[in-house]
Amino acid sequence: MLDTGFFRGWLTAAAAAVEREADRLTELDSAIGDADHGSNMQRGFRAVMTVLEKEQPAGPGAVLILAGRQLISTVGGASGPLYGTLLRRTGKALGDATEVTSAQLTEALRTGVAAVAQLGGAKAGDKTMLDALEPAVEALGTSFAAAAEAADQGALATVPLQARKGRASYLGERSIGHQDPGATSSALLIGALAQTAG
Ligand code: ADP
Ligand code: MG
Ligand code: MG
Repeated sequence: MLDTGFFRGWLTAAAAAVEREADRLTELDSAIGDADHGSNMQRGFRAVMTVLEKEQPAGPGAVLILAGRQLISTVGGASGPLYGTLLRRTGKALGDATEVTSAQLTEALRTGVAAVAQLGGAKAGDKTMLDALEPAVEALGTSFAAAAEAADQGALATVPLQARKGRASYLGERSIGHQDPGATSSALLIGALAQTAG
């Protein structure tokens, strides 16, 4: 079973991964965006860590809802509302149980990812975070490690795609040949999940 500590651990591992990879995320965003994805994610996850130190959310759902709210209120870019929605909607779907199964987490994440697609109007193949998140949720039915692998592959597979959503879409064909920053950060978040599940 996955308890509140597991979800705190996931977000802590995610925050550490964002710190470690912030420069790379910004570098990817400088090729097809406005060079702020690393700093956006850093600002958001630092705020998440600060609020988690101060508050004691009662269960897995409450942890994710609190974190999602922080991302929405602190990250200026497109990724803030999108990741905020992912965590909030996933948290809402988990409800107020004090422990959840990995099957319940998979279903909740499916709901969260669908909410991201709805908010941003993007679908798989549009060269966004969904290209990592959607395959990850599918593979989560198999294992956490399979989900991390699928997210990494999904992020890599954005390289030959032309962006159809977000800032990178303004570049048209010139967005081809670069890895999507948001798909890359999504792979970090799913990697952190697998690491926490150990
Ligand atoms: P901004 O583009 O506002 O500077 P960020 O650089 O933080 O925001 O995030 C950019 C990432 O957000 C992109 O790489 C992409 O993965 C994701 N993104 C942008 N628009 C959308 C959308 N409509 N749907 C899903 N993901 C999106
Ligand atoms: Mg940007
Ligand atoms: Mg920006």
